[in-house]
Amino acid sequence: MVFFADFLTKNRTWHALVGYGAYFRKHSRVLVLCGTTLALTLPCAALAQDLVDDPNQIVLPNEPVAPPVVVKPLSWKNIPEILGNQISAPRVGVYAGYTRLVFDLPKDTLLKVTPQSSGFSLELIGVKLAHNLSEEKTSNELSSWKMENTSSGVVATLKTAYPIRDNNGGYKVLAIPHGIDSPNDRLVLDMSPAFANRTPLALEQMALEPFPTGFQMVLDPGHGGNDPGAIGAVIEKETTLKVALMVRDLLKAAGATVNMTRVDDQILSNDKVTDLKMRGQMGKAPQNLYVSVHVNSLKKSNALRGYGLETFWYSNNVESKHLAESLNTEMLNLTGSFARGVRNANLAVLRNSEVPASLVEIGFTSHPVDGENLRNDAYLERIALGIARGIRNFIGIPSELPK
Ligand SMILES: [Zn+2]
Repeated sequence: MVFFADFLTKNRTWHALVGYGAYFRKHSRVLVLCGTTLALTLPCAALAQDLVDDPNQIVLPNEPVAPPVVVKPLSWKNIPEILGNQISAPRVGVYAGYTRLVFDLPKDTLLKVTPQSSGFSLELIGVKLAHNLSEEKTSNELSSWKMENTSSGVVATLKTAYPIRDNNGGYKVLAIPHGIDSPNDRLVLDMSPAFANRTPLALEQMALEPFPTGFQMVLDPGHGGNDPGAIGAVIEKETTLKVALMVRDLLKAAGATVNMTRVDDQILSNDKVTDLKMRGQMGKAPQNLYVSVHVNSLKKSNALRGYGLETFWYSNNVESKHLAESLNTEMLNLTGSFARGVRNANLAVLRNSEVPASLVEIGFTSHPVDGENLRNDAYLERIALGIARGIRNFIGIPSELPK
C-alpha cells in the first residue's frame, strides 16, 4: 500500500510516499531517497527541512492535533451594582488561546496583584464572601482558583497551567475603575502562556553601546515580493521587514554598517531555493555576522499549540551558536515571551553563510495571542531592541571582530 502524507510549508508541498520511502519536491528538482520503512519518516522530514527557511512550518506526519477549545465568552452587560462589601465568584471567559477572569468589586476597592511562579495571589481589601469559593480545571490556561475570607478582606489564589514569567510574560492585568460602562470597579486578569510585554519603550532605552570601528553585518527580512511567507494575524514578509528596518536603525545609530538583503517588498529570485541561497551567501567577509528574521506559523488545526520565540543556528561557523544564544536571551529579556529555545537546524540561509549566523522566529502569526503581539508596534520594537542588544552583546569588546 502506498501511503501519502503532505509536508506543507507556506509555499511548497512535499509528498511522502512512505510505502516506498521516497520524498520528492513538487517541482521535482530534488529527489531524496530515504529507505523503505515507516520508521524513517522523521529523518526524511529532517532532510526536507534542509531546503526551507522556517523549520516549524513543516507539518510532521502523525502530529497530535490540539483538542478544540470550548469557547465560553463573558457577558459584560447588566452586572448589578455591588451595594455593601460582599463580593461573589469571578466571571470566567474562555477564549481560543486565553482565559479571562473578571472580579467585580465595590467602588474604590484597594487591591494588590502578586504574580507567582505558576499563578497569582490577589488581595482584595475590605471586602468579604458569604462563604469561601473554589473551582478546579477551569480552562486550558487556569488549573484552579479559590477565594477565601481573611482578617483584612478576601484573598484569591489562582493556579495557572503554565509558568508565569518575569517582565509581564504570560498574563495581562487591568484594574478598571467604575464608570460609564460598569457601576463596579473591575479587576481583569487575562492568562495565556503567549502574552508578552507590549509596554512602549522610552527613547532613552533604545540606545546601544557604540560598535567597534569597521563592524558590518547582513540583516535578512525573510520572504518578500511574491513570497508572502506565513499569513495569519500578520503577513510574514511585512512584519519581518518592519522589524529588520527597526533593527537596522538601532544598529546604525550605534555606528554599525548594516547590509540588508532587501529594504522593500521584493525577493532576490523567484526560485525559492536560489533566493535562500543568494540571501545566505551575502554572509561572508568582510561582513562580521548574519541575522535572518522570520515569523512562525502552524496549520489551523494546531494553531493553539504554537507560540513564543525560537532562535536557530547552524554549524556553518563556530560562533553561530553563541550569536543565537545572545539574540535569544535579549529578545526574552525585552519581551517576557514564551521561550521555545535555541536550536540547531540546517537551514538554507544559515548553511550558505560563512560568518556567525542566526535565524530568529519572533512569534506565531497563527496564534490568537501571539498574533496580537505581532500586530503591536510596541512588541515589535521590543523584539527589534532585543535583536540589536543581542548583536551588540555578542560583539562585546573584541580586539578582533568575528569573521
Ligand atoms: Zn519565514
